[in-house]
Amino acid sequence: MIKWFCGAVLLALASCAPLSSGSPELDKLLRVSFAIQHEAVAQSWCSNPCASTTMSQAPGLSATMAMPGRDMVVTQTMVDYTQSDDELAFIIAHELAHPMLGGTSSRGVELAADALGIELVILAGYDPQGGISLLERLGSEFEWANVGFYPSFAERVRIIESVMLTLEEK
Ligand SMILES: [Zn+2]
Repeated sequence: MIKWFCGAVLLALASCAPLSSGSPELDKLLRVSFAIQHEAVAQSWCSNPCASTTMSQAPGLSATMAMPGRDMVVTQTMVDYTQSDDELAFIIAHELAHPMLGGTSSRGVELAADALGIELVILAGYDPQGGISLLERLGSEFEWANVGFYPSFAERVRIIESVMLTLEEK
């Protein structure tokens, strides 16, 4: 599974991760997850903490939010794939948006999670271009894997760009 998927996936392995592990990938994940969640609490999106954050050794590029427990699991491969904190911030913000949107995953919900997520990325002080660069890289490498209800990576980039434009006009 090389696709970044997410949604109401049942996972039993989530647990609270230690604050520092000696693993640079886990430290990066916890640092960015904390910053994004801190902003989500400040915006009254959720109570503190929003979700537990776990790094999984499972293969593939994957980030999931299991509900109702709000256990966020990101694979180390996914953390490694991100080239900046800004890219990882978009992944975490997208996952945190899912409990806000409720229901099961669908094409519309995925785009809504991107739109809501990128707003949180900006509020938390990260660069929203990270979301675009991540999706463009995924699109150039894995567009063939874009199946099912998922919107295309190009569509997801367009949603982010339109949110950025709307926010600039405010
Ligand atoms: Zn999603």
